[in-house]
Amino acid sequence: MNESSSLFERACKVIPGGVNSPVRAFRRLERAPFFVKKAAGAHLWDEDDKQYIDYVGTWGPAILGHAPQSVISAVQAAIPNGLGYGIPTRIEVDMAETICRWIPSIEKVRMTNSGTEATMSAIRLARGYTGRKYIIKFEGCYHGHVDSLLVAAGSGALTHGEPDSAGVPKEFAELTIALPYNDPEAVRRAFAQHPNQIAAIIVEPYPGNAGFYLPKPGYLEFLREITAKEGALLIFDEVMTGFRISPAGVQGKHNITPDLTTLGKVIGGGLPVGAFGGRADIMNCVSPLGPVYQAGTLSGNPVAMAAGLAQLRELEATGAYDRLEKLGARLEDGVRATLADLQLPLTFKRSGSMFCLFFTTQDVTDLASATTADFDMFRRYFHSMLEQGVYVAPSPYETGFISTAHTEADIDATVAAMRTALAAAINAR
Ligand SMILES: *Cc1c(COP(=O)(O)O)cnc(C)c1O
Repeated sequence: MNESSSLFERACKVIPGGVNSPVRAFRRLERAPFFVKKAAGAHLWDEDDKQYIDYVGTWGPAILGHAPQSVISAVQAAIPNGLGYGIPTRIEVDMAETICRWIPSIEKVRMTNSGTEATMSAIRLARGYTGRKYIIKFEGCYHGHVDSLLVAAGSGALTHGEPDSAGVPKEFAELTIALPYNDPEAVRRAFAQHPNQIAAIIVEPYPGNAGFYLPKPGYLEFLREITAKEGALLIFDEVMTGFRISPAGVQGKHNITPDLTTLGKVIGGGLPVGAFGGRADIMNCVSPLGPVYQAGTLSGNPVAMAAGLAQLRELEATGAYDRLEKLGARLEDGVRATLADLQLPLTFKRSGSMFCLFFTTQDVTDLASATTADFDMFRRYFHSMLEQGVYVAPSPYETGFISTAHTEADIDATVAAMRTALAAAINAR
């Protein structure tokens, strides 16, 4: 038995499913996950010293690749001064100023330790600010494992076939209105049915947790208009897309000003960090200025801030977004040429460094179309990719991430591996 398998056997005895987050389990793929020993740049090495080109990128944070020198150095410089104090520090101010400068809709920001805490706090704040109780979310959007947001959720819940979690009382879930993404009429109907009762719409502006797909032209603008008209808040959950799709996330690219934004992943530089922020008059309702309680023993941790801030500064200093777009376009060209050659009209979506190959020939615009993916074909593809040393997410409902550490040669090798994997996946049909 190899090292990963024996570690997994030990893990399964003491950790539910052997993993500390369900997306890491390869259960539906009928094999054990590999265990990572180390990572550098675009590459991972498992406990059996097999090397992979990585397109999971820690599920989003590793935008500069793994262990970038600038982030490692910042963390090393911070550590000797103490690992945390629970007292304000200079670097928290630097971080907040940086976020507000990059994302103009954010006038004030509060740091958390995860994306889940950020979305949980943002919807509490929206309810506290508006005095209303309902929240609209979209099917297939994942906003962390918050009780009231685990309704028709994507990501691991979807992969493992449990989009609605047990343990969330029906009464909680009743305050969450789950609607199809890209369907303005459904949103209009919900506002008509619950006049003056909807506190907020929370949305992944580019949904990345049921595969990766895009808003129809005008859809995000529509969400902005209807929330403003109805007195509800618009929350952009940019935990995945923030500092990733553009320096100011999807809102920067589309020039839309949400009331609140949630962040995570990239802003932590690989350490556990989240944040929520937005209009000052709304953020002023957060404790200790206002009545909406929100707190965190480790929030704004100086080592985590050092890592995150170093990552943001490196992104800014190196013109990273042009490079990510170039690499993304190179991958897209390669994938499209391969699909054409194999006469395999699968759906491929990409924006910048985020992409998804859907194992369906339908266009994908929402959860219903995303879940037309052929899971068996994906499974054969995934196994072949892994054998060839390319790690894509172990689910057809996840986004692929390119980092600035990927080289043109990595991308070309990946396209070549995809050709082999897709050919194998068709032949076995
Ligand atoms: C990952 C993610 C979250 C949850 O963040 P965690 O740090 O895993 O709690 C929330 N929203 C979106 C859009 C995400 O992709």
